Amino acid sequence: MKTIKEATRDTRVACEADVVVVGGGPGGIGAAVSAARNGASTVLIERYGVLGGMGTGGLVTIIPNMSDINGKQQIAGICEEWIERLRVRDAVAAPKKEEWGVTDKELVKYYFNRIFFYIRQDRVCYSAVIDAEISKCVLNDMVQEAGVKTYLHSWGTEPIMEGNECRGVIFESKSGRQAVLGKVVIDATGDGDLLPYAGIEFEDNIPANFRIANLALCFWIAGVDLRRAEDFKNNQPDAFAAMQRECLKLGGFPGYLKSCLNNQESVVWIHNRYPNKSQVDVEELTRIEFEGRKKMLKTYDFWKKNFPGFEKSFIVLTAPQLGTRSSRRLIGEYKLTKADMANNEPFEDTIAIFPDLDRGQESVDHPNMFIPFRCLQPRNVDNLLVACRAFSSDEHVQEFFNLIPHCIAFGEAAGTASALALQAGVSPKKVNFADLRARLIKQGVPLPDVRAGVR
Ligand SMILES: Cc1cc2nc3c(=O)[nH]c(=O)nc-3n(C[C@H](O)[C@H](O)[C@H](O)COP(=O)(O)OP(=O)(O)OC[C@H]3O[C@@H](n4cnc5c(N)ncnc54)[C@H](O)[C@@H]3O)c2cc1C
Repeated sequence: MKTIKEATRDTRVACEADVVVVGGGPGGIGAAVSAARNGASTVLIERYGVLGGMGTGGLVTIIPNMSDINGKQQIAGICEEWIERLRVRDAVAAPKKEEWGVTDKELVKYYFNRIFFYIRQDRVCYSAVIDAEISKCVLNDMVQEAGVKTYLHSWGTEPIMEGNECRGVIFESKSGRQAVLGKVVIDATGDGDLLPYAGIEFEDNIPANFRIANLALCFWIAGVDLRRAEDFKNNQPDAFAAMQRECLKLGGFPGYLKSCLNNQESVVWIHNRYPNKSQVDVEELTRIEFEGRKKMLKTYDFWKKNFPGFEKSFIVLTAPQLGTRSSRRLIGEYKLTKADMANNEPFEDTIAIFPDLDRGQESVDHPNMFIPFRCLQPRNVDNLLVACRAFSSDEHVQEFFNLIPHCIAFGEAAGTASALALQAGVSPKKVNFADLRARLIKQGVPLPDVRAGVR
């Protein structure tokens, strides 16, 4: 590989903080808000102009699997607060609390027809569909009210290392190359962007047939007469199937998801999958941006001509943020593996419970996944935590447990732990876990009972 030598230089220190969070997606929001609320001066660095990551910029507006098979809410805390704030603005659609866990066939059918994420194991589940635009505003409010100093349009490029301790982050923006010094750094980039430069071990193997192996360029079509489109699908299944085959043959997509929000009845979403060599390879990201738009036009042109209800439709939005499902994964103090997906015992350092709903009979046998704090901790570096889908997991765990509510929960635990550790004068790995647990519970995070015999 050809390289050049860069000159050493002095870099301006933009500010100093207790906690520096890189990435303002689900993980970063959880981390920054909880660190700041727990008394840490907190800086958040986000490469785009909006917060929310895939949940806003990626047009991934389904927040699923927050209740378990019995209808008990297992993911709450900051995630629930976000949804509650959206609810105030009528910017969320979700089954009512009394419906979670219900098996009534008519109710199940009703919600399944709206979006399949509402139904898991033939029961109504607490999943929510949110408004991406209102969400951007709500997340801004949440970080501002918490007192987080935010830099938007800023790429976190390199951790500042002293031996095996992280002391801050270099970031690049229109204002040039600057540094933020911090006592704890939280990588919430989704891709673990800081890991290679901090010398932290990671892996990135993903079998090609896994959901998470695919990039996406989601887009929305508006102006759809949804009643006519759905009538065609439901009443003329053979004609619809033939149309889907033809669209696929021409290189388009075969179907859409309905926006479930009351005021978005004329909008449909197209979520898609693009195989790739790597989800952090800039040439691959560029290729999918080009290929994705070509495929989108093929789909749209075909549907407008052939799909009843799409005659007056238009492409209203392509995702400003390319959809990344998985890339680098930390190899941390504890690596969650397939074996953990069969173990029903909590860890002694459990910081979150994730309903396990997507694996058929295996989910019935194993209704909840327990998440230890150690899977956010690098093995060989101090003062840096990972709070995003790059948490320490094998490809099997990553396939099912890297969703938006999961990442908010990682963030809430990492941010809270960082603030408590700094108050105690220790590194985050050495935080008193009983204190962390008590604080998370106070913040509304459901955690398992502490019992003897935990892992
Ligand atoms: C098409 C698709 C469909 C999906 N469907 C669902 C679904 O229905 N429900 C669900 O819950 N999940 C779904 N997922 C998965 C989910 O969206 C992600 O796993 C989740 O958003 C990960 O959260 P995160 O905080 O780790 O990363 P992200 O959401 O990617 O957020 C990372 C943030 O960090 C910023 N960032 C990245 N690098 C840097 C840097 N170097 N410097 C500064 N900022 C940076 C990004 O701009 C972004 O704001 C889907 C994903 C895709 C792509």
